Amino acid sequence: MSAAGSLPPDLPTSHRESEASPAPSPESNTAGRTINNDRGRIFPCENCGADMEFHIGQQTLVCRFCQHSVDIQTTSDDSATEKDYAEALKRIRQQRQAAQTEQHSADDNWTKAEKHHQELRCESCGGNVEFYGTLTSTHCPYCGVPIQLEKAHRNEPNRIPVDGLIPFRVEKNTAQNQLAAWVRSRWFAPNSFLKDGVSGRFNGVYLAYFTYDSLTWTAWSGQRGDVYTVSVGTGNNRRTETRVRWSSVSGEFQRFFDNIPVLANSGMNREFIQALEPWPLHQVVPFQQQYLAGLLARTYDIELDAGFREARARMDAMIAEDVRGRIGGDRQSISSIQTQLNAVTFRHLLLPVWLMAYRFHGKTYQIFINAATGEVQGQRPYSVWKITFTSLLALIATAFLIYWIMQA
Ligand SMILES: [Zn+2]
Ligand SMILES: [Zn+2]
Repeated sequence: MSAAGSLPPDLPTSHRESEASPAPSPESNTAGRTINNDRGRIFPCENCGADMEFHIGQQTLVCRFCQHSVDIQTTSDDSATEKDYAEALKRIRQQRQAAQTEQHSADDNWTKAEKHHQELRCESCGGNVEFYGTLTSTHCPYCGVPIQLEKAHRNEPNRIPVDGLIPFRVEKNTAQNQLAAWVRSRWFAPNSFLKDGVSGRFNGVYLAYFTYDSLTWTAWSGQRGDVYTVSVGTGNNRRTETRVRWSSVSGEFQRFFDNIPVLANSGMNREFIQALEPWPLHQVVPFQQQYLAGLLARTYDIELDAGFREARARMDAMIAEDVRGRIGGDRQSISSIQTQLNAVTFRHLLLPVWLMAYRFHGKTYQIFINAATGEVQGQRPYSVWKITFTSLLALIATAFLIYWIMQA
């Protein structure tokens, strides 16, 4: 046990951290206790010394043994402030170059997630708690105590600090009910799947996100097609033909994109994760490590500029849709779109997701639940028999309809 470990948990942490961290952020010092030479953080109960966890229903820290509850103090709030994108990129590149010239490894360990590995010694049971990849907050595998890396989200050198997070709002049993309702509403699911539902271990995890904003200015040109009909031919050959009249159109417009969320963690099914949107971003609070206690958390391994490329693709798709609307008419053909981005800003957030994996007939399926809204997305089994039967029914119905029309 370290020297810090023997201090009472309610003592202000500023004394014992002053010698270890050169520039401690005020946010990370306000609660809890650091362990293992300030590399880890826990939140001991001032009543009984057991470790406290974030309680989703109460939105406070609660002791698992004596139920003692502590409010999470809000510190200076810069969570709503958008950061300048170009400036952040420049700063990160400079820091990396500086690190290189100092002969330090400029490798970003977190980005090469498979390389990253850190171990902490659990103060409760003495066991080794391992943090692999992007994991920053977890439980001791031997005694279940919540434990997290101290600096991963705010004070890691050459890394973008987390601005804020949406605390978990959907409790585990609510998530389970949502999942049960989701299972019941699935079409073409096997009967045994509908009857038994799915069961598996739920993991609450904060995922890393960048949200981007940009003012865009777009100049576009294209062809507008208006459909009209003409009568052609004479006598028995007289008929109506459909033609398209094309005309050139062009224009320009501005559009502001606000908070386009991009998942900054790899190794997840991005299609399902994106389907969890929209995120209620008005619920973002300033980052505090207490919110992570008892839950899993990951730090980003997709860089700010890579995330922006994804945001840019989403903006471009929405702009193209805008252009089609502006061309109007019955058909649209886009000749050119030129978009200028101004004032790109971003925030780095942690967003809450319930994850579950379950097995059905020997196959593993993944479920994602938005822990702020309850939205469920995921993989589910299909009943081949039900699909075949329904397709067959549809085929018979069509055949019958054709027969009926022919007879009429
Ligand atoms: Zn307690
Ligand atoms: Zn332990």
